[in-house]
This record gives sequence, structure tokens and C-alpha cells, in this order.
Amino acid sequence: MQPKIKILYTEEEVKKRIAELASEITRDYAGREITLVGVLKGAFIFMADLARGIQLDTRCDFVRVSSYKDDKATGVVRMEFDVTQPIAGQDVILVEDIIDSGRTIEYLKRHLMQGKPRSLKICTLLYKDGNGLREEIDYIGFVVPKRYIVGYGLDSMGLCRNLPYIGYIEG
Ligand code: 5GP
Repeated sequence: MQPKIKILYTEEEVKKRIAELASEITRDYAGREITLVGVLKGAFIFMADLARGIQLDTRCDFVRVSSYKDDKATGVVRMEFDVTQPIAGQDVILVEDIIDSGRTIEYLKRHLMQGKPRSLKICTLLYKDGNGLREEIDYIGFVVPKRYIVGYGLDSMGLCRNLPYIGYIEG
């Protein structure tokens, strides 16, 4: 059974905002090739829309990480699989579904920098404020409340990724 969801952004609002981000990226990287690196699984729908909105020569690759909590409740991020092509010398944009503590993105930034890209920026569909990282994130779709967000790629126990809107679980 699906949980009760309070809608934050409708499908139309999400698509409009992603189109704006795609235009911004197209302007910022005019005349260059870019490489989008999506973080699975959550970013798959956002990345598909973003990539199709970008009017540049664009490569797409993916990484996957897992996050574990130890007994001090500090998340430990581990690489599950890495990009499939070298990113050396490329203009890379890391594409995330949501940034909460910022631990995942910090880990991935450090990891991808080892591949010696020409540049590395971060684009996230959603951002939960309060982690002090806002200035470090280059492209943000929406700033969302500190609730459990679902839809548009984000899951709740494996479900809800296919919801065409963004919301939070009520209760
Ligand atoms: P961080 O490392 O920034 O704390 O968390 C990033 C990852 O945690 C996201 O890529 C996502 O997988 C998961 N996450 C964080 N907040 C939420 C949320 O509100 N809803 C869902 N579905 N996943 C979240």
C-alpha cells in the first residue's frame, strides 16, 4: 500500500524547473562538451529529463553508492559501482536527486576528483537546507523541507520512484 503523500511540486512545476536548469547549464557550458554523472538509483528520472533539455554534446554515465550507519549514527558511504569511462580532462556535472547531510556528495566529489576532470560541478534536483553546503552546490532545483521526500525518482522502501510529482510522506 502506498503511503499518504503531500504534494510539494506537481509534474508541470518539476518539468518547468528542470528545463530552466538545463538552459542554465547550456548557457554556462556554451561551445563545450559535458559529461553528466548520475547517482543511482534516485537520479535516474531527473537525469533523463535534464540530459534531454541540455543543448550541448553530452555524455551520460552513472555511479552508485551505498550508505551505512554505524553505531554512532554517522553514515559511511561506499562505492558500489563507478563510472564506466575515464573522466580525465572532461567537464563533469554530478547529478543527484537530493542532498541532505551532504555526505554522499562530499564523498563522490572527492572520488571523482581522483579521475582528474577538467571541472566538476554539482546539480541536484532537491536540497534540504541546514548542512552549510548551499554555496558549494552549483545547480539546485528546489529547496525542500526536512521531511522524507518521495517521487520523481526518490523512493520509500523501493516504491514511489515512478510518481510524476514530488511530495513528502505525511504523518
Ligand atoms: P546525504 O548523504 O546528503 O545525507 O543523502 C543523500 C542520499 O540520501 C540521497 O541520494 C538519497 O538517496 C537519500 N535521501 C536523503 N534524503 C532523502 C529523502 O528525503 N527521501 C529519499 N527518498 N531519499 C533521501
